[in-house]
Amino acid sequence: MRHSTFLEVNLGLLQENFLKIKSFSSAKILPMVKADAYGNGIIAISKYLVEQCEVRTLGCASLGEALHVFNQCPDLNAEMMVFSDSEISNPELAEAYANLAITPVLHQRSDVEAVLHNPVLSKIPITLKINTGMNRLGLSLDELAELAPKLKTRGVKHLMTHFSCSYYSLKDGDKSHRQMDEFKKAKDILKNAGVEVKETSVANSGAIEQKFGMNETYIRPGLMLYGPPSVEPRIWDGHQISKLQTKILKTFIVKKGTPVGYGINVAGEDGFIAIIPIGYADLSVTTASGAELMINGHKAKIFARVNMDMSFLIFDASVAGKLKAGDSIEFWNHDNRTIADLAIQMKTIPYQLMCGVTNRIPRIYKVK
Ligand SMILES: *Cc1c(COP(=O)(O)O)cnc(C)c1O
Repeated sequence: MRHSTFLEVNLGLLQENFLKIKSFSSAKILPMVKADAYGNGIIAISKYLVEQCEVRTLGCASLGEALHVFNQCPDLNAEMMVFSDSEISNPELAEAYANLAITPVLHQRSDVEAVLHNPVLSKIPITLKINTGMNRLGLSLDELAELAPKLKTRGVKHLMTHFSCSYYSLKDGDKSHRQMDEFKKAKDILKNAGVEVKETSVANSGAIEQKFGMNETYIRPGLMLYGPPSVEPRIWDGHQISKLQTKILKTFIVKKGTPVGYGINVAGEDGFIAIIPIGYADLSVTTASGAELMINGHKAKIFARVNMDMSFLIFDASVAGKLKAGDSIEFWNHDNRTIADLAIQMKTIPYQLMCGVTNRIPRIYKVK
């Protein structure tokens, strides 16, 4: 167990984010907990959302994730929806869907046929994802029209689509609006074929931040529940629920021209270096070197090669003596702008930073 390097996840802040999102509309919230709840821990987050926030449906990416949740929390009073890797065509796995509250999102014709033709799956709710222009997963409108007659008796429990560009500022007639037009056509195709659709959803964080696609049954926030904004300019002012804390392992002064660490990375100026015990085996991001960040009020830059177990922070020479081995530092904190800025500095997105915190970093849960 590591004591001074950990990811502190504050569940009280998660609840505040949840309530803020809820105040935007009357839509029900279907939180996404895929990828270990964006690195925050799928078990603790799922339990908290269900037990403290009255969530009844959670979204994950694979059947394995859903089974993991039910293995760890057999009494969880919620449905898990499997959005991408449902493995629904594998007859050996059909029992899982038939016996547990796990629902596959059917996103291609073969998925729908597997469900319609396998008697073991005769009771599971039909949940369809439509491709409205992202061109990743989803039935085309033509495929939907062909399948519609076969769906008449069972009806569609939940019809959904996913936006490709909702993290851009929305404008009339843009990609997201065109996707909404296509989604409306999908609804009409089913209606005209006499297929009842009970529930719908379209919005992920970028759309929710901009209050777009809120007039469906559900909204599906992922990122914004956990902190960072996804739209520029930043409008979401929720909390970053996690704080990545570590400490300084060692400090030393470098003279201009001194090589540091593996390879030949030479200090360009006289400076002050702090080594921190976070390497690529702790934060799995390969583009960290060169990132600028603030460390306890001092400007720092991640310098030279990031190693498996540690990284170098370089400071102006004047910082020497102001930081020392053992000092705690926050790599990111509960201000959601810190991680958003760090992601830009590391030439990536907050999603990757959060999912990149490996299981070598303990998760510690706080309720406030
Ligand atoms: C991941 C995902 C979401 C949540 O996306 P965020 O941008 O994290 O809010 C919503 N819907 C689907 C289908 C997803 O795969």
